[in-house]
Amino acid sequence: MKVLVINSGSSSLKYQLYDMTDESVLAKGLVERIGMDSSILTHKPTGKETVTEVSEILEHNTAIRKVLDKLTDKVSGVLESIDEIQAVGHRVVHGGEYFKASSLVDAQAKEEIRKLIDLAPLHNPAAMMGINAAEANMPGVPQVVVFDTAFHQTMPEKAYLYPIPRVLYNKYKVRRYGAHGTSHYYVSQKAAEFLGKPIESLKIITCHIGNGASLTAVEGGVSVDTSMGMTPLEGLMMGTRSGDLDPAIVPYVMNKEDLTINEVNSMLNKHSGLLAISGISSDMREITDGRANGDPNATLAFDMYEYRLRKYIGSYAAAMNGVDVIVFTAGIGENSLYVREAVCENLTYLGVELDKTLNAVRSDDPRRISTENSKVEVLVVPTNEELVIARDTYRLVTEQQ
Ligand code: AMP
Repeated sequence: MKVLVINSGSSSLKYQLYDMTDESVLAKGLVERIGMDSSILTHKPTGKETVTEVSEILEHNTAIRKVLDKLTDKVSGVLESIDEIQAVGHRVVHGGEYFKASSLVDAQAKEEIRKLIDLAPLHNPAAMMGINAAEANMPGVPQVVVFDTAFHQTMPEKAYLYPIPRVLYNKYKVRRYGAHGTSHYYVSQKAAEFLGKPIESLKIITCHIGNGASLTAVEGGVSVDTSMGMTPLEGLMMGTRSGDLDPAIVPYVMNKEDLTINEVNSMLNKHSGLLAISGISSDMREITDGRANGDPNATLAFDMYEYRLRKYIGSYAAAMNGVDVIVFTAGIGENSLYVREAVCENLTYLGVELDKTLNAVRSDDPRRISTENSKVEVLVVPTNEELVIARDTYRLVTEQQ
């Protein structure tokens, strides 16, 4: 079965086409700047030349049509006909409490995703556009939705409720939902597989640290706590997001600077984090370069980032009364040996012992970076959210047939 995986943003659409007989990627690509004057389609067919095309793509419907054209193109295509695509899997950011697992798309599922727009105003409308566009261009092809929040639905009440009036949960479902669930699930499973141990026996802390960043405490294979909250703003310091802060800062700053709700939201989501402290960039590569060159603001940004990350690791070790495995993943976790080193060097109290030589190795495969004597296994596991989406899609569609 060939499965097309789609990740729709408000102005972008990423895709990967899988052949599920061997889980190989036949092609992948990205449409950027949808709705703007010059949209860019980058199509990467496996084993063939990458194609880049600039045109006007005003909405997701046209974006998918162009992607399908590329997938069946005589030169850059990998399919004889669109009919070879037997299922489509979509990434959806927010599944609320309704979606505890991936689901086939039907009228009810669409209605539930629509209801959740209130909780994910930027993300769920984009997913809906992707679903509708796929339906319009591939009528009759079964579709599946895979949620970033679903893996965290196992969290106990004590982890997901906020200590605020209960009525806010009862009326508006104000609670912790978390994010990056597909990634936390994938890397925790992969870590257990790599170690050759049953996941049921392990306490794992997964650190998904990329542009957005979150930590999850995975006990016995299920999420018991995670650092992102009702929205992806809570938790770790991120590229442009503040992460945790005293909530009283919000009304205080709004009052002092005469800010609107939108302005303060934008300040915390887009103008904070590494960018705000370094004054240079939200990108960890530029922060580590600045630090290497002795830039004090880049150094402070790095130190704050590492310090906050390490405090969260400590708190999740406390939450689970121990930790067997720490996993690093996503852009920073997979690539920044400096962040990994700084964190691990200060976790010796947990029995973490980093092997600096292994930490410097680059690889696309899961790998150990702790020493043989380390009491905690420290791993780097490249994430693959698209593969989880493709697998869930394949499974649900096959079960239904
Ligand atoms: P992601 O959101 O997972 O794609 O991660 C993107 C982020 O990973 C970038 O913004 C960078 O901060 C970070 N990143 C990527 N490559 C490196 C690298 N070699 N060293 C440090 N950080 C990196």
